[in-house]
Amino acid sequence: MKTKATCPYCGVGCGVLIEHDGRRITGVAGDPEHPANFGRLCTKGATLHLSARPETRLLHPQLRAARGLPRQRVSWDIALATAAERFAAAINEHGPDSVAFYISGQLLTEDYYVFNKLVKGLIGSNNIDSNSRLCMSSAVAAYKQTLGADAPPCSYEDFAHTDCLLIAGANPSYAHPVAFRRIEDAKAARPQMKIIVVDPRRTDTAATADLHLAVLPGTDIWLYNAMLNVLLWEGHVDQAFVREHTEGFAALRDHVRDVTPAIAAEVCGLGKRGADDIVTAARWWGEAKAAMSLWCQGLNQSTHGTHNGTALIALSLATGKIGKPGCGPFSLTGQPNAMGGREVGGMANLMSGHRDLANPDERAEVARLWGVDSVPSTPGLTAIELFDAAHDGKIKALWIACTNPAQSLPEQERLREALARCDFVVLQEAYHNTETAPFADLLLPAATWGEKEGTVTNSERRITHVHRALTPPGEARPDWRIVCDFARELGPRIGKDAARLFPYAAPSGIFAEHAASTAGRDLDITGLSYALLDAAGPQQWPFPKGVNVADAAGRDRLYADGRFPTADGRAHFVVPTQALTAERADARYPLHLTTGRLRDQWHGMSRTGKVARLYNHVDEARIEMHADDLALRGLKSGDLVHVKSRRGDVVLRAEASAEIRSGQAFIAMHWGGNSLNSAGANALTLRDFDPYSKQPELKHATVQVEKA
Ligand code: SF4
Repeated sequence: MKTKATCPYCGVGCGVLIEHDGRRITGVAGDPEHPANFGRLCTKGATLHLSARPETRLLHPQLRAARGLPRQRVSWDIALATAAERFAAAINEHGPDSVAFYISGQLLTEDYYVFNKLVKGLIGSNNIDSNSRLCMSSAVAAYKQTLGADAPPCSYEDFAHTDCLLIAGANPSYAHPVAFRRIEDAKAARPQMKIIVVDPRRTDTAATADLHLAVLPGTDIWLYNAMLNVLLWEGHVDQAFVREHTEGFAALRDHVRDVTPAIAAEVCGLGKRGADDIVTAARWWGEAKAAMSLWCQGLNQSTHGTHNGTALIALSLATGKIGKPGCGPFSLTGQPNAMGGREVGGMANLMSGHRDLANPDERAEVARLWGVDSVPSTPGLTAIELFDAAHDGKIKALWIACTNPAQSLPEQERLREALARCDFVVLQEAYHNTETAPFADLLLPAATWGEKEGTVTNSERRITHVHRALTPPGEARPDWRIVCDFARELGPRIGKDAARLFPYAAPSGIFAEHAASTAGRDLDITGLSYALLDAAGPQQWPFPKGVNVADAAGRDRLYADGRFPTADGRAHFVVPTQALTAERADARYPLHLTTGRLRDQWHGMSRTGKVARLYNHVDEARIEMHADDLALRGLKSGDLVHVKSRRGDVVLRAEASAEIRSGQAFIAMHWGGNSLNSAGANALTLRDFDPYSKQPELKHATVQVEKA
């Protein structure tokens, strides 16, 4: 049998056919009909069936009576009643903001919708955030500040139409391989297409570029400002577009006047040819009929991630290269459903249907849609703030779903202290052996890929209906159902009518409610249903009622009419704050550590780490360094080294790498506590974050390295 779903790894959102016999998943193949991948899969997606290892699955609820005691198997009734009692006690004694929920871009949209409604509609707090905070929140803030909405305007199809592709802070060759195949196809079909890659490392993506700008970490804004400086000097600015469709250009023009290529080359560490390379990059962009940018965590995971994004988006706006084939700024989503989660408002500063928490009319609208008195106005705690509050004893009960903060959040020592200090921790998870599991007082077994139905939205705003192939093992339940069951237990204990708010018998009812709630919004999907998605295949939003499936205009590419969803209908230029990294190298911590992905692993490896063949590429944790930096320390490739930052330390092997310049180092983000007997790269990273997006600077820390 074959069941249609999507790959649960990256934001490309490839369609898969799950092969199974009704009891076991026996294989996986790319879905030739899915518009994201047309049948292609990368190594991770093609081995999904091998990752479904029963011995790692959490099969029954487990509860411990007190800290220090082992957890015991309990029934779902006891598990949910206990959770409801503990959360109700905190809410009734300390108020709704004494509890918090930390969820995941791995969840399906329907799961996200009910989590958000539980916290904001039933409990009356905005303390719900997602690991999407670590992923795309800077891109979201940049889109909102410039274009007015959280809406990536491009499609993968644009790669085939662009004449100049600027890939910034992204390594799609590893992190989004099937999208990268489309870029390679575009280049093969039109070799004159220029590819520029901005990355401190000479990654596989950078190695294929016509021009690689190996900037120092944290210096991106200077580069994009200097490119704009050249575009202005050489007459490539589309003055008519700027005049008719934008605001704020004069201030940015004045700001970049002094950011010359020579100054930027110096700040960015681009060497003697750097100024010429910046001029070349700007000319390629300016002279191209169609130019587009593509970015990911290298820009987002920064203490100025939002302004990294706005500076890059300014290149599209200044040259009027947006809303046309092959044009526009395009953020890649790290996770499979970070987009869907934001569509339903499943974060501390968002509301359903891209509504604005700060807007009283929009809060009232959500309250009306849900049938509750009000939605609280105080923004909730974002990821780093939430765990800081737990560390300070302000969060009494914490619910974590489908994510592994004891591996993925920065400054692990402090993070783990926060988990240990919280009075009651619930972990809703498919696996019993993640790094976060030992901190859970209550473990709730969740269904995972292949076992649940719902929808996901990929990087190009495309919604896919994901089907269930198998019944979940043991007593595992779909995430949406766990949330609804908990809500119905909690409601009476805090004086709320949860049964009326959570009447769903199946995810289709949740999707229908979500779709109806988007009426008139930028992401209007009132024309979508499970039935339409099954009949017509995955669809991009917006998709309002009455739209013709065959007519993609207005969906595959936003802003073709030059109107933007801002208050004045114009796009806005932003004058950036010129800032470097949060932490500077010094004599004690002289190396700039950057983090990133491996080709064949995904996140904390709870799934890919179970597939032997995925270790053929890289088989153990290591720190990559320039050969000169190894020699300077009397080290050689293969030596065990002690890597220390101001926050923690790890022991791992060193390896000389030609991808890295002297003074820098690289550790893949995947390795965690179970693989390193430590907290992995995030023992070293810091929790400083961008003031707008609250996204932490996971990409950079300074470290020292010595022989272990
Ligand atoms: Fe596609 Fe990404 Fe999955 Fe690879 S990991 S198959 S590119 S969705």
